[in-house]
Amino acid sequence: MTWLALCLLGALDRLARFSAKDLFVKYVSTRGSAPEQTFEDVLLSGLARDGGLFVPAEWPQIPAADIRALEHLSYAQIVTRIVRPFIEDTLVTDADLIRIVEQAYSDFRDPDIAPLVQLDEDTWILELFHGPTLAFKDFALQLLGGLFDHVLGMRGKRLTIVGATSGDTGSAAIEACRDRDNLDVFMLFPEGRVSEVQRRQMTTVLSKNVHNIALRGTFDDCQDLVKVMFADHDLRDSLALSAVNSINWARVMGQTAYYFAAAAKLPVPNAKLTFVVPTGNFGNVYAGYVAQKLGLPIEKLVVASNRNDILYRFFNQGDMSITDVEPSLSPSMDIQVSSNFERLLFDLLDRDGAAVAAALQAFRTDGVLPDSGRLSADARGIFEAQRLDDNETLEVIRSVHENTGMLIDPHTAVAVGAAQKTPLDGTQRVVLATAHPAKFPNAVEKASGLRPDLPPHLSDLMDRPERAETLDNDFQAMRDYVCAHATVRKTS
Ligand SMILES: *Cc1c(COP(=O)(O)O)cnc(C)c1O
Repeated sequence: MTWLALCLLGALDRLARFSAKDLFVKYVSTRGSAPEQTFEDVLLSGLARDGGLFVPAEWPQIPAADIRALEHLSYAQIVTRIVRPFIEDTLVTDADLIRIVEQAYSDFRDPDIAPLVQLDEDTWILELFHGPTLAFKDFALQLLGGLFDHVLGMRGKRLTIVGATSGDTGSAAIEACRDRDNLDVFMLFPEGRVSEVQRRQMTTVLSKNVHNIALRGTFDDCQDLVKVMFADHDLRDSLALSAVNSINWARVMGQTAYYFAAAAKLPVPNAKLTFVVPTGNFGNVYAGYVAQKLGLPIEKLVVASNRNDILYRFFNQGDMSITDVEPSLSPSMDIQVSSNFERLLFDLLDRDGAAVAAALQAFRTDGVLPDSGRLSADARGIFEAQRLDDNETLEVIRSVHENTGMLIDPHTAVAVGAAQKTPLDGTQRVVLATAHPAKFPNAVEKASGLRPDLPPHLSDLMDRPERAETLDNDFQAMRDYVCAHATVRKTS
């Protein structure tokens, strides 16, 4: 690192510490009837007691001078700067935070962590797939794993993490939690219904604290069993159950940093920005919204959807009504009810938690969000939406390969296609690339004729030994298995 960068970092550090004490944010629930919480509660509990999601009570501001100074910092230093105001320093000191963040990104395979690659004159691709499991979820989950371990270690506590996955989240969560002292992780996936690469990314992790469960059932069965476990309060308390799904605020926080990093890397000074984001649960694009709230000059956030287009219909037609989920070439976006949308809704309803609760209740019972027209008109100040079907997605993969030689995965392709449909309006456009092409080789091969290779650290994935327990779709069997293998009881 250069001397100048060190000086700047020192100055930033002092600045952060100087004003830190009063700056740390508190958190409120989007349903409004839970008390204000600290970061520790938000991190460990995930969901508020009233069923809402946690959001900061107010938005800390990153001054423009600090944003300009980010270009001299490493990726880990940028993360440290952006997340600092969200975490109390009594819980995680500056030195802890730097250590946790550096560790979180030490397994990424590109020295830039999130390299920015030029696609055409005004369009850039932010590659978010160089983490251990080749999808952008590693950015948040690696950080989350380190924060969990640190906080639990300080408190002398253990947690049992239970989750259900249809693909990318499971492997990213397992990689983030493996070999941690204070966590056990149980991941359910539907037997025979995840891709071989996705399954092996989970089952070849042989760490003692990792338990893969192949369930004889569907993804919905997996999710239902997890919900039943969480609803059993005795079990929840005795096992100290926790979740790492995308509603955890710390995941959003961890994703906000790469929006700043992208802006810092653009060779166009003070550019106004458009980000185009392949969207499923609305966690990634909401992190962009947070970046704007913190002070990043984002003009537009483009929500890119596949044929499951409920968000497209909301933003463009003021209609948010549920239809059936249909499988597509970009399976991580095959979602109808985007859980993080609730956080945006909270702001659109002027942070009135009771109004959020009522709107979501109506959405659940009627399948239609009330007053969608007015809400979407307000949201259009910053959000836009585009959608692509599978044929368009394949065509984008093909043409990007033909024009640039680059292979992109189908989720990224949906966003590149969405970018092409969005007017530039004098902005620089950054498309978020959320998965490595080798994670979805069939679609890439179908479009381009080329089958992308797994990167070197996974090249022997197909030969590694696997370990998974196969269980019937039966709550009793699942409960017995988790109780027998969780270490939380033996230590408490
Ligand atoms: C999870 C995922 C998405 C969707 O991200 P959200 O935060 O849920 O909107 C998009 N692409 C890939 C590859 C993913 O794994």
